[in-house]
Amino acid sequence: MYENEIAAITAKGNNQEIYFGLLQLTKDIMQQKGRIQGKKKVYYISAEFLIGKLLSNNLINLGLYDQVAQSLKANGKNMAEIEEIENEPSLGNGGLGRLAACFLDSIATLGLPGDGIGLNYHLGLFRQTFEQNLQKEVPNPWITQQSWLRRTDVSYPVILGGKTVQSVMYEIDVTGYDNKCNTLKLFDLDTVDDSIVNEGSIYFDKENVAKNLTLFLYPDDSDYQGQLLRIYQQYFMVSNAAQLIIDEALAKGSNLYDLPEYAVIQINDTHPTMVIPEMIRLLMKRGIQIDDAIGIVSRMCAYTNHTILAEALEKWPLWFLDRVVPQLIPIIKMLDVKVKEKYKDERVYIIDSEQRVHMAHIDIHYGYSVNGVAALHTQILEDSELKPFKDIYPEKFNNKTNGITFRRWLLHCNHELAAFIESKIGAGFKKDAGELEQLLAAADHPADLNKLLEIKQNKKEEFKDYLKQKENISINEHSIFDVQVKRLHEYKRQQMNVLYIIYKYFEIKKGNKPKTPITMIFGAKAAPAYTIAKDIIHAILCLSEVIRKDPDVSPYLNVVMLENYNVTYAEKVIPAADISEQISLASKEASGTGNMKFMLNGAVTLGTEDGANVEIHQFVGDDNIYIFGESSEQVIEHYAKADYSAEKIYDEDADIAKLVDFLISKEMFAVGSKKSLIRLYMELVTKDWFMTLLDIRDYIRVKEQVFADYEDREAWARKMLVNISKAGFFSSDRTIAQYNDDIWKLKAE
Ligand SMILES: *Cc1c(COP(=O)(O)O)cnc(C)c1O
Repeated sequence: MYENEIAAITAKGNNQEIYFGLLQLTKDIMQQKGRIQGKKKVYYISAEFLIGKLLSNNLINLGLYDQVAQSLKANGKNMAEIEEIENEPSLGNGGLGRLAACFLDSIATLGLPGDGIGLNYHLGLFRQTFEQNLQKEVPNPWITQQSWLRRTDVSYPVILGGKTVQSVMYEIDVTGYDNKCNTLKLFDLDTVDDSIVNEGSIYFDKENVAKNLTLFLYPDDSDYQGQLLRIYQQYFMVSNAAQLIIDEALAKGSNLYDLPEYAVIQINDTHPTMVIPEMIRLLMKRGIQIDDAIGIVSRMCAYTNHTILAEALEKWPLWFLDRVVPQLIPIIKMLDVKVKEKYKDERVYIIDSEQRVHMAHIDIHYGYSVNGVAALHTQILEDSELKPFKDIYPEKFNNKTNGITFRRWLLHCNHELAAFIESKIGAGFKKDAGELEQLLAAADHPADLNKLLEIKQNKKEEFKDYLKQKENISINEHSIFDVQVKRLHEYKRQQMNVLYIIYKYFEIKKGNKPKTPITMIFGAKAAPAYTIAKDIIHAILCLSEVIRKDPDVSPYLNVVMLENYNVTYAEKVIPAADISEQISLASKEASGTGNMKFMLNGAVTLGTEDGANVEIHQFVGDDNIYIFGESSEQVIEHYAKADYSAEKIYDEDADIAKLVDFLISKEMFAVGSKKSLIRLYMELVTKDWFMTLLDIRDYIRVKEQVFADYEDREAWARKMLVNISKAGFFSSDRTIAQYNDDIWKLKAE
């Protein structure tokens, strides 16, 4: 199909023309394809959708990729260079937004009616650059004249700051793999003015809501104006969502009392929580009594918790909400009164004694499902963080271990590996990821294991070339690629990896050279106001420079920090990785999804028993993963007893002290900021809230074992193979099937 159109487009002279030609053709095909229909639909409301570039993935899902790729090849072109033209939409920060994108792909692939609802941030998340070994943030305009966005004439009135503004809805089609389409609906305001952003800076006038509402994703909220803007954004998102949901249900014949038969709302973290009071408000405006309205909404809403980090559970002062959304305050107060009438436990109140509104508590009391995102995470929620709620509503709690779409994270990003798998077990795994288990038979075939190593080597060489061309950085393709790519956060402990590198640096200086050279690859953005996170980036960049300039060490150890880590970069680096670093402090990483992408691409995990690592460990067994560090139980006990002291470890363990001290050495000062390096040093020695020094010894021990084991290439290839074979569980198709069976109960077409 579409042979003529594809031939005409791919014959064009320049890549720009080809890209925009393919964009338009793909959009047209998706439009003609038809929507997934059904009486009941899920609305996945999320402040973030980190969808990545769409051309290749859409072509794969439409079954047109190979045809286009061949046609390009016949014209002396390739897909990679065409894809370079596409801007990556920057509509998310990290894992949470990427999960939402994987879910949309799987919902459509399973043929379930389900749309995403979010905001059309014009500049999205900042673009990261490095200057003098420091992170700089620059605006990232991603929307071009022609893009995947389609403007609709759907528009709703929304009360913002006492004035009513008129929204505009954009849509991006989401095609299932070999299935019809759903849509991602992104709301915006025509009055938003990109020109108020200062040239080259992400700081802007936060006062004028109508002009700046959808400029940025999570604008810097370290100040009062930024926080106000964030609540405006959240309210704008959910008010539009609620109006759309009511309209669509009415159009299908709902009398509103039966709304839960038409719509289920999945609340992705607490950011969309205000959809609950807003929906109640709108139903009451249509003449429904408050108790009925509460009942209706409570049977429609389901909440996903993504973190137990206290600072990430939103609590807004009541007076603050009163300034932004006064129309919701009577309802929020009513919801709180009803809770207080029934329960005397302060821990479950919506409005606490300091007059703060606990957003998650609204979701739990007035939704019918609460889920965590990995087995360990859900267990911690049930046993400690949300225990008082679990006691009240045991039936609401459930686990949905995260997943990733294998279309993007295998078929698209690793064609060679996908083709190899298909040659061994057929194409069934593309629709039923569980079939990957059949690959295990290849573990006894040296030729297959060699083929796997060969594919990995090819991906490493491709990545080396990409890095050279993009950042002018040279790496050794015959070195071990040890990769830690994810948002920068202290709990993820990039700083522990830094201390390992310092350890290795000293070892090499002493003459203990690794058999195979090592390339440590980092990629991470730090929130603009998160000082210590930026200090860690600074330390990585400084260390990189110190090592690069040291001829004794640089042939054996290379530290690379990728600039502006995003989905596109992830798609390049993950297939090339040998080792997947998943080293968060046990109990702190809710699930992780990066860990799954690496596993699927044949990297071996070096990690703590945290998040979904626990389940990966169970699937692959002790021989095919490297686990270290204290358990979540032990860590939780340290917090409870407040018995962890970094200072004590530093004082008593000279080996560890030596590593930390290097942060403030003359070598580091020569290439970095004294202030920043000292701040990081002090943080590690006096606070170390995420217990880096607790696990560093075990981390070094196990990491040395990983590098030693890498030398037995056949044994290593077997580990790779087992990881790929056991990755099926982590397909988001499985996750979504479970959401549907247990929570949404939609009917597939
Ligand atoms: C998958 C992904 C993440 C999440 O990574 P974690 O290791 O699970 O934190 C973050 N950013 C990007 C660009 C991703 O693709």
